[in-house]
Amino acid sequence: MSEQRFNELRGEPVVYAVHRQNRTFLPAENRCPLCPTPATAGAMETEIPFPAFEIAVFDNLFPAFSAPEGAAEVVVYSDSHQGSLGTLAPERAEALMWVWRHRYQELGAREDVRYVLIFENRGVEVGVTLHHPHGQIYGYPFLPPVPRLELAADERLGGCALCTLLSQELKDGRRVLFENESVIAYVPFAARWPYEVHLVMHQHRPSLLDCSDAELRLLAEGLQRLVRGYDALFARPFPYVMVVHQAPTDGQRQGHLHVEFYPPLRTAEKLKYLAGSEQGAGTFIGDTLPEESSLALREAIARAG
Ligand SMILES: [Zn+2]
Ligand SMILES: [Zn+2]
Ligand SMILES: [Zn+2]
Repeated sequence: MSEQRFNELRGEPVVYAVHRQNRTFLPAENRCPLCPTPATAGAMETEIPFPAFEIAVFDNLFPAFSAPEGAAEVVVYSDSHQGSLGTLAPERAEALMWVWRHRYQELGAREDVRYVLIFENRGVEVGVTLHHPHGQIYGYPFLPPVPRLELAADERLGGCALCTLLSQELKDGRRVLFENESVIAYVPFAARWPYEVHLVMHQHRPSLLDCSDAELRLLAEGLQRLVRGYDALFARPFPYVMVVHQAPTDGQRQGHLHVEFYPPLRTAEKLKYLAGSEQGAGTFIGDTLPEESSLALREAIARAG
């Protein structure tokens, strides 16, 4: 079990999951717990007791949250140890959107889950402990600070903040990376990370449950295009934290489905660290304007195709 405490100075919960210290750390490929279990007798059993699979979802063995106080799941994108969200077959990426949607629906229906966060940590730079392409889902028993801030932005702007920001980005145009019929990708006007990108539904859709089949397919297409562009930027697998923001699941239907990417790199080798100003004051200091990084990203996305 994990323990939750309330940090009064920050006005936010902190969760202690001490058993996580023992989790598997960067195993060799032949000891990967997210690979399929070979059919051969005596083969190592992984977390997935099948010789092949498409997408696998299971409870995190080292959960930050577990019933009856939330949930933590692992979503394995493929039975292949190599590759990434960007290189999955398009049909598989589309199927992943349906898996996300199903988990959002099922976890969100639970009394003890107030917010469902689908996310992916990619690269050792953001603390990844397993290289096999996968993401995670947390079901929080409370509404966490970041979605709370986004709801506060809706109030401040007198309507859906994402709808307002989206139309401003389209009107300006300088930070827009690409769009298809359902999604638009841009480096936000006030990005906190040098290569931060938001991939936003064109139409106001509170969650994956409100999307049509075509929208889910085009969301997958947009995600893949962006990740391939990221990898082309510095010709290396690009580390990032990816989060899917949707409506809270506590009965309010406010929110606008969008995916945020926070990459820690500011150059091919240099990381952006959260230091004095970011940690102590909560103010990000950047050395690249979003208009400049969007130029570089647009070019990389064009190159990656
Ligand atoms: Zn693997
Ligand atoms: Zn909206
Ligand atoms: Zn967001």
